[in-house]
Amino acid sequence: MNKWSRDILELCEEFSHSVMGIDIAGDEAGKTLKGETEEEAMLDEEDVWAFQQAKQKGIHRTVHAGEVGPPQMVQKALDVLHAERIGHGYNVLKDSKIYQKCLLNGVHFETCPHSSYYTGAVPLATAKHPIVRFAEDGANFSISRDDPTVTMASLQEEYDLLVDWGLTEAHLVRANFNAAMASFLPEKEKQDLIAKLKGIYGMGDPENPCRTERIPETQPSVQFRTWNDR
Ligand SMILES: [Zn+2]
Repeated sequence: MNKWSRDILELCEEFSHSVMGIDIAGDEAGKTLKGETEEEAMLDEEDVWAFQQAKQKGIHRTVHAGEVGPPQMVQKALDVLHAERIGHGYNVLKDSKIYQKCLLNGVHFETCPHSSYYTGAVPLATAKHPIVRFAEDGANFSISRDDPTVTMASLQEEYDLLVDWGLTEAHLVRANFNAAMASFLPEKEKQDLIAKLKGIYGMGDPENPCRTERIPETQPSVQFRTWNDR
């Protein structure tokens, strides 16, 4: 609700000790003026104000964009709303220029497999789910449940669905490291979380888990079952 943007920002400040960041979700259609295409649609002024204030005040920002809206919304989320992460973002694939830029800049996509079907963001007849493309292209993405009380899917079920589509354990592990690295935790806690993940996945030096060791650059290929076998 655009009219709540200011209140939400105030809540972020008031509860800054426990609030991690600000998000926005909903109708991405924007306000189209007469003769304007959906791509040209303007973001709501109140939302823009709230997110620009959030940036100034050091409040972390994530923006649902390109979930059902056009790829240009992803660009606007990054440029105008100063998004540090993109919720879903599937439609970014429809504009190779914007997508390539996101790949190059390591833009983080919060993907939610079951939710993408329930909301209709990705029609069932889609030849290849955008998350599979993200995985193949080495995009920076994580795996989430979106709204668990609605989707009723556990994280394991999200993993199972992705494995059905051909993602490997390596993709899932990488997604979890990406999630940690894109998290809005204070830097020290983020490093602790990454070190913990390294321990869990048996990576790095157990004597010195905080040693910054790069995650292998090798691209895991989609090895078992392919999208066409689904
Ligand atoms: Zn969502």
